[in-house]
Amino acid sequence: MPSTIAKVEAFRVPPRWLFVRVETMSGVVGWGEATLEGHTQAVEGALGDLTHRFVGWDADNIQDIWQTAYRARFYRGGPVLMSALSGLDIALWDIKGKKLGVPVWQLLGGKVRDRVKVYGWIGGDSPSDVYNAAVERKSQGFTAVKMNATDSIGWLDSPSVLTDAVARIEEVKRTGLDVGLDFHGRLHKGMAKQLAKLLEPHMPLFIEEPLLPTQPEEIADLSRLVSTPIALGERLYTRSDFRPYLEKRAIDIAQPDVSHCGGISELHRIASLTETYDVGLAPHCPLGPIALAACMQVAISAPNFVIQEMSWKVRYHTLPNQEADLYTYLSHPSVFEIKEGYLGLLHGKLTVSSLSRTLYLMPCFAGPGIGIEINEQLVRETSANYTSKHTPWKNPVWRGEDGFVREW
Ligand SMILES: [Mg+2]
Repeated sequence: MPSTIAKVEAFRVPPRWLFVRVETMSGVVGWGEATLEGHTQAVEGALGDLTHRFVGWDADNIQDIWQTAYRARFYRGGPVLMSALSGLDIALWDIKGKKLGVPVWQLLGGKVRDRVKVYGWIGGDSPSDVYNAAVERKSQGFTAVKMNATDSIGWLDSPSVLTDAVARIEEVKRTGLDVGLDFHGRLHKGMAKQLAKLLEPHMPLFIEEPLLPTQPEEIADLSRLVSTPIALGERLYTRSDFRPYLEKRAIDIAQPDVSHCGGISELHRIASLTETYDVGLAPHCPLGPIALAACMQVAISAPNFVIQEMSWKVRYHTLPNQEADLYTYLSHPSVFEIKEGYLGLLHGKLTVSSLSRTLYLMPCFAGPGIGIEINEQLVRETSANYTSKHTPWKNPVWRGEDGFVREW
């Protein structure tokens, strides 16, 4: 039976997420996420264009819709168009899985692992701040965390800011957790190589965006300078953007974001491409529950998957009375329960008969589609209230002491 797309809706929800709901003529509903932090209205506009183009199309033909949205409009790629397409793509995969009664990871070839390693983000300026935050993450079940390497930093700043970074990683390592350091593209080449060398003896899990993702040659130089794995990818869109980083041997870990890179379709293809370069996959995801559920589908099925970011209990810069977390919009949040540093641990169900005991193991994310149930009524009510009263979140603009703009 054809699944004609009847309706595409976007929901702006706190803290800074953009959900996409697609419904077919036969009443199957799929959810996607097109969150592009700080650019909500631009993505809403791009989604409006996709809606106009694809209502009436067959939702089963995900590849044709993806290729038409990408190729048939002359201009392509970039964060806005690709985030809108990502939201639509994830929702279409959710519909296909629900229609067939299987999880999306089954449609991607089945599972290659039973559980998915995750890490959480920690904030804090001082060594004691990050130590306490890491202890809290450990108590929540994480075995790995990520934190920013530096605060705002100039093109050539005082080397003292780099020794602070070393003190902070030493404190986090004391907890026994592994820690990735996100340079956030804040440093320029001179200080980035200095910091990478200083951190190397402390064995970070990886260093992320050591330079802005416009510098594949310079990042390749850094990769030859230190033994630390280099990660990057949240600001790359489609396989084409990853290509120079792979060909120049610049990265060890690819971090595409399922809500920016082209959805489940392209995340799956990027996983396959990066595998051929012996590069691991660690999908970027400081986003909402739909993006994480979409990442899980690829994480479960991709051979080179290594670790998944998740945003549970991240303290976003939210407005008063607009607190929302990874679990807020889920009908069954336990799907994202962390055990021993992993999501999707096989859950035991003990059935006792008169003569024997049988242990049935049911994998998490066994539900059809992307495996989560969205509380639609809450999304509708929250979005209507939020959209009428607030403008969407924007990142702060940083400037140095001389007034020149700095990378956030
Ligand atoms: Mg990052």
